[in-house]
Amino acid sequence: MILDCSSYAGPCVCGRTHQLETQLVVVEYNAIAKFEQYMQQVGLADKRRVVVYDSLIYELTQGKHIRADQEIVLPAQGLRSEDVLIEEMMTRLDRPEVIVAYGAGTIMDFGRYPAYKLGIPFVAVPTLASSDGFTASICSVILQGQKKSIRMKAPTLVVADLDIIQGAPVRLVTSGINDILSKYISLADWKISALVSGEDYCPMVAGLAEDALRIMRQAADEMAATGRIDYEAMTMAQMKSGLTMQLWENSRAASGAEHLMAHLVEMHPPRFESAEGIHGECVGVGTYAAVKEYHRLAALQPTAKPFQPLSRDWVLEKFGPRLCEGILEENAEDVLASLDPQQVVAHWPEIQQIIADIPSPEEMEALYRAVGAKYLPQHIGIDPALEAEMLPISAAIRNRLTLIRLCRILDFEPSQAR
Ligand SMILES: [Zn+2]
Ligand SMILES: [Zn+2]
Repeated sequence: MILDCSSYAGPCVCGRTHQLETQLVVVEYNAIAKFEQYMQQVGLADKRRVVVYDSLIYELTQGKHIRADQEIVLPAQGLRSEDVLIEEMMTRLDRPEVIVAYGAGTIMDFGRYPAYKLGIPFVAVPTLASSDGFTASICSVILQGQKKSIRMKAPTLVVADLDIIQGAPVRLVTSGINDILSKYISLADWKISALVSGEDYCPMVAGLAEDALRIMRQAADEMAATGRIDYEAMTMAQMKSGLTMQLWENSRAASGAEHLMAHLVEMHPPRFESAEGIHGECVGVGTYAAVKEYHRLAALQPTAKPFQPLSRDWVLEKFGPRLCEGILEENAEDVLASLDPQQVVAHWPEIQQIIADIPSPEEMEALYRAVGAKYLPQHIGIDPALEAEMLPISAAIRNRLTLIRLCRILDFEPSQAR
């Protein structure tokens, strides 16, 4: 399957003109055999080329390497996306005109970051499809000791060879399913925010995320029923979801209340010290918790509650002294402050309708179990007793409007009408 991305870029019904660095996404069996042809198609075949691998992938993909003017093989042991390591590699670059990153998520940042700094294009050859970051421009990198997500460069071309991708462990497949099923929540959060706060919304970008969700849901249902893994569909779903982050210049369509669970796990606040899981697994736990909570709330009738900033005492208690200042800083200009809680209450019937489109907790649980995906707190080392607190705590990590954050300006009473 080949996706020509040009149709997404340009003037849009939302009023914006969308930009897209990615021109072509190839998801095929034995795609590497035609790599030079695809490079030709995007005008990069004759550029002086550096290809970056890690040592593990270099071994695993013997016979599938690509032509290079310079080859860099980084030691897989201890490799992480960090400025000092990437800049050390950059000192070894020999006049590249294009960088090809060949591997998993970490190695992508060794393409994305130097390409951005040097102002040259970057090409991605992903070796797994466990998350939707490959077609995004966002670099999750440690800068001066702090983990940051910043916009850098998106790949001009993505060549995903399914012969390589199908060799990845099944745990990465289910993690990838989770990363896309999370769009049930992220899209609901975006729609709710557009409704109550007038946040910009794009039906085309949301539609692309919905498309990714539909493709993944179908593939997950098939895997649940027959055990067959449709690598082509699942990989394309990841690629499409990643494109939404480029088109919208942030991760709004792809990341809502549920994705903050992954941040929570990475931050290890008090009581979450032993939480551990790969990105999609943490997101799966966040998604299932949010699915349950959103349906529970939809059955209730809220009343307005005046806005109160997060208190230092609460933040200190939940995040501890190490993380407290950063969380307070993130919430200094709380998106809730400018909202009229009464307006949120007035929109409640529409919010209930948005939530009605989210599958029920029973349906989600059956699917997670059938494909062997992680979805409960104890699956990622979180005490189930913390379940009720996970979402409100993680909602404080990012000043982005989600239904969970909105609960701070709402009081809920069980509806008499139901
Ligand atoms: Zn648009
Ligand atoms: Zn994700």
